[in-house]
Amino acid sequence: MNKKPYVRPVIRRQFLGAANKFGGLSYPETLTSIDGVKIETLLEKYGSPLFIFSETNLRKKAKSYKQAFESRYPQFQPTWSYKTNYLNAICKVFHEEGFWAEVVSSFEYQKARKNGVPGNRIIFNGPYKPYEALKTAVSEGAKIHVDHLDEIRDLMKIAEELEQTVEVSLRISMDTGTYPVWTRFGFSLETGHALEAARRICHSNGKLALIGVHSHLGTFMMEPGAYEKGAKKISEFFLQLKKELKAPMQYIDLGGGFVSASKLKGTYLSNANILPNFDQYAEVICKSLFDAFSPEEPPPLFLESGRALVDESGYLATSIVGTKTLPSGKRALILDAGVNLLYTSTWYDFKVSPIKDSTKACEDVILYGPLCMNIDIVRENVLLPNMGKGDGLVLYPVGAYNVTQWMQFIEMRPAVVMILKNGEVKQIRRKETVDDINSMEVE
Ligand SMILES: *Cc1c(COP(=O)(O)O)cnc(C)c1O
Repeated sequence: MNKKPYVRPVIRRQFLGAANKFGGLSYPETLTSIDGVKIETLLEKYGSPLFIFSETNLRKKAKSYKQAFESRYPQFQPTWSYKTNYLNAICKVFHEEGFWAEVVSSFEYQKARKNGVPGNRIIFNGPYKPYEALKTAVSEGAKIHVDHLDEIRDLMKIAEELEQTVEVSLRISMDTGTYPVWTRFGFSLETGHALEAARRICHSNGKLALIGVHSHLGTFMMEPGAYEKGAKKISEFFLQLKKELKAPMQYIDLGGGFVSASKLKGTYLSNANILPNFDQYAEVICKSLFDAFSPEEPPPLFLESGRALVDESGYLATSIVGTKTLPSGKRALILDAGVNLLYTSTWYDFKVSPIKDSTKACEDVILYGPLCMNIDIVRENVLLPNMGKGDGLVLYPVGAYNVTQWMQFIEMRPAVVMILKNGEVKQIRRKETVDDINSMEVE
């Protein structure tokens, strides 16, 4: 018989279900499998930690999002926000579901092109569009959303070089009652800067043509009312540009920003009760647009959602690599995944589930990542059963912004798999090796 290693006895407070003022304690739910595939098996095969995406969930979300808008609006075109998650396999699911690409850099533009998206199905946003990238995008027919005046100058020069009229759209910021207003992008509507920029475009001796107006209000916008106001204001501006400046206006783009079922830090209730769904956003946006354009049909509507479409389809499976008792008596679990992979842990309390059933006796623990850095904390407080080295946990939802903002710091980045709708598991990104990283260095 193997002798177990000696562990000094400590007295720990156990939590057996006492209610607090917000109701009962939420016990950790065990999550053994995703779409019928055992997480433990995936960890064995692809290593730990491991990002896992569900194709079934992705498509379900994409369909319900389209349904919410297409059932209410005559011409709706969804676009996929690349920066939210630009793994090609994820982007391709959205493109197959009919989404165009929305990119915010030259790099993302190239990624979309390599994914087979034609230029005329790409919306090019962002504050930095290098001249050559802008010129390529123009010549390939991309929808250019202007962020600042220097870009208008660049576009005029491009129009001269290409000897053509360049169609452009204007990004605007507006006060919709949600603060702070994101004024750093585009031109402010309230100050008149937006109208001034529109004049520049319209008075460019035919070099530029103003065809659209765009605004991305913010992210994780919990108030549909902001979109209601935003849709009204942007419609009025659209009509003003058409009438006063005779601009050949074609479309309105209301950006992204819808919430996902993530739990913001500092909220007590599970978010399901307080978060708006796609129908609630769609209802107020479409009604606002119909009202503003009545009795005429409103123009085509573009949206650029990211987070709301992908977050809940992504999971991060991780393993406990050690445990310790802090001087305060609190238990700490050290995981092989930390803030290097979970950039968004700054704002969100991810759900944490053991991947195997265990005892009901739970304890409030802190989850540390693997980095040799004091701030590498995944959760400050979470109720978990007794767990030890080698046990697995899964964190979710983590599908939005983590696999783009992850960093190669101290640790290398892990593999990513997708559980396909037919139940097969496909590795969509292999884990990094030291050679990958060394290959970019020159000696
Ligand atoms: C990031 C971004 C989006 C996507 O935002 P979500 O909050 O993830 O929906 C859309 N449009 C622009 C211009 C963005 O920068």
